[in-house]
Amino acid sequence: MDLKDKFAVFMRQRHGRLTHEMVLTPGRFGLGQTPDRLQPDSTTSMVCGFCSTGCGLKIHMKDGKAVNLTPDPEYPVNLGMACPKGWEALTPLKADNRAVAPMIRGEDGKLAPVEWDQALHLFTDKIKATMARHGKESVAFLSTGQIPMEELFLLGILTKFGMGLLHGDANTRQCMATSHVAYKQSFGFDAPPFTYKDYEESDVLVFFGANPCIAHPIMWERVMMNPRKPEIIVVDPRQTETALAATRHYPLLPKTDLPLLYGLAHVLIREGWIDQAYIDANTTGFREFARHVQTYHPAAVGKITGLGEARLLEFARAIRPGKRVSLWWTMGVNQSHEGVRTAQAIINLALMTGNIGRPGTGANSITGQVNAMGSRLFSNTSGLPGGRNFQDAAHRREVADILGIDTDIIQQKPGLAYDQILTGVKEGRIKALWIIATNPAHSWVDQEEFRRAAKNLDLLVVQDMYHDTDTARLAHLVLPSACWGEKEGVVINSERRMGLFKKVSPAPGQALSDFYIFKLIAKYWGCDAMFKDMDTPEQTFQVMSKLSVGRPCDFSGIRDYKMIDEEGGIQWPYSAAEAAGAATGSIPAHAGIEKERRLFADGRFYHPDGKAKFQFGPPQPIPEPVTPEFPFALLTGRSSSAQWHTNTRTGKSAVLRKLYAADSYVEIHPDDASHLKIASGDWVIVKSLRGQARARAAVASTVQPGQLFMPMHDVEVNRLTFPAFDTHSRQPSYKHCAVRVEKDADA
Ligand code: SF4
Repeated sequence: MDLKDKFAVFMRQRHGRLTHEMVLTPGRFGLGQTPDRLQPDSTTSMVCGFCSTGCGLKIHMKDGKAVNLTPDPEYPVNLGMACPKGWEALTPLKADNRAVAPMIRGEDGKLAPVEWDQALHLFTDKIKATMARHGKESVAFLSTGQIPMEELFLLGILTKFGMGLLHGDANTRQCMATSHVAYKQSFGFDAPPFTYKDYEESDVLVFFGANPCIAHPIMWERVMMNPRKPEIIVVDPRQTETALAATRHYPLLPKTDLPLLYGLAHVLIREGWIDQAYIDANTTGFREFARHVQTYHPAAVGKITGLGEARLLEFARAIRPGKRVSLWWTMGVNQSHEGVRTAQAIINLALMTGNIGRPGTGANSITGQVNAMGSRLFSNTSGLPGGRNFQDAAHRREVADILGIDTDIIQQKPGLAYDQILTGVKEGRIKALWIIATNPAHSWVDQEEFRRAAKNLDLLVVQDMYHDTDTARLAHLVLPSACWGEKEGVVINSERRMGLFKKVSPAPGQALSDFYIFKLIAKYWGCDAMFKDMDTPEQTFQVMSKLSVGRPCDFSGIRDYKMIDEEGGIQWPYSAAEAAGAATGSIPAHAGIEKERRLFADGRFYHPDGKAKFQFGPPQPIPEPVTPEFPFALLTGRSSSAQWHTNTRTGKSAVLRKLYAADSYVEIHPDDASHLKIASGDWVIVKSLRGQARARAAVASTVQPGQLFMPMHDVEVNRLTFPAFDTHSRQPSYKHCAVRVEKDADA
């Protein structure tokens, strides 16, 4: 009797549970592959699955399978443009290392394919046994901003309410936690206020720790479409591609952004370059903030930042009221030990100059991953669905009522953050870890620490589209998942626009969408009754819509997926009242759906008093300053628009591989290179207290003396980075650590 037959007998004995047939042909039971909705030979539009720009792509299908794509000229985000990743978005689907069957690691140490039923039994039996033996805090999950909202939501409900776990987080912690906390504290809700049209309508655009030329090339194209001949200011220690294209570059010393921002505020107040009427009408805490920045004299700040007093004054003059100034930031701010206060110092500049709620203005956080915003609002990890708080009894009741569950099931505080979960693994408190569509064995800030900690686990489950990612190679169990293009769902981009993923290709082998994997786990766990109204992603979207009602992210005016499709995406908020033509909050009454909408036009924010709050605090020391032994500051960042994160997908494209350096490299200033007798192309070793990386030297004055730069996509880089965390957001600080560099004697 083979395994399938044994299982069939077993299932016949377990009447009322998932049947053998259901597991082997899950699609027939609404448990398998996303149904094919599209004509086999047709062209359809959907959103790109890489970054948070959320470009629209036209997918051309033949025989039910995507064969090609072109950027969508009608989509309001990209207006017919795409970056190299977008053009190559279909290639990673065809890779020969796709996970095509569940795999269990045997006693020989090798992963071997098994049936879904065996994998799911192992998953549920082992996790239940772990929880029975060590308590519910002994199991955790880590997910991603790369999967649609419905999947994130289902996962959050399944784990926290169905399985009874307390701890789960997402890799959104690595990119957007800082912006989430900063907005929440300043505005009362995690609400990026802008629309991409603002790139085209500003007189002055200031980019803090952002390199949109490389990281968000389509957003940069929108800047290039600005007809107002704008001033473009880049604040970055490194001369990035964006800095080269800017009208002004302020190469401040690493991690001095916060004093710089307080120094700018000091000058603006001293010179009377503020919008007092706006401050009085729409904010609180300004007087205290003004007192706080009193000591940030330009001469001192000029010295701390390395920019000098004159440049600080020139900068302040450029952003004084009278012009449309938009302030943009991304990972150079977010991935910092004091990211939240830095982001809030940017928000403060916008508030004090009245640069918010009007065209071409705003304190605007550019998101990283395609659905980081969906994760922030609905993943049920750091907050309850709809941007609610675990600590708020009324919020818990609202969620429980809509989901039809007992309020007592809902925990009263958030679980552990990503780094705290990994500390739990390291210390043996967390025994089982389920990782979904993320690759911490490459991306975690202290990579070797993650790899060492993973060895402590009794069970490491990796659910991914590839069976051999750095993390999957450590797994006891691999669950094969469908990816972008093989399933459907909604994602939210940087400007709050909801866009659609569609199924344009079948998933390979036995791979299932994450949505259906979660549904199967719910069945095996015995908590599937909780999901009776969520048989499909679109039904789940309707449940989430109910959870959004009355919240700042209310999208109850969106009827269905078709409406999102027809409208070219819809920005939240879009409430049922607004759909009926009424004015709601900061959105004026209008007929139809406005394509480009920004928040706070009415000066009303989401705190109970309707005002925005000035938030501030003293700058903190750099966590790992340079020393005589480790005399260089290592900066990290994106190096090419052809790479995405850990390269698991973009590395599959021969076209993209030609667009970025073949070897890992490190930028070093010519003076330092000459002193160390290093020439461009030499192999060098970069060492930190945590590990070392081999890379080719790129001698260039893009970095300042005493600084090095390495691309974040290379697996070696996070052997070096230092695990410091922002105290408010617990986001890792990837952008600065102390290293030394030497010629590789063995090369
Ligand atoms: Fe896709 Fe982002 Fe490139 Fe647009 S900019 S095509 S969303 S990767």
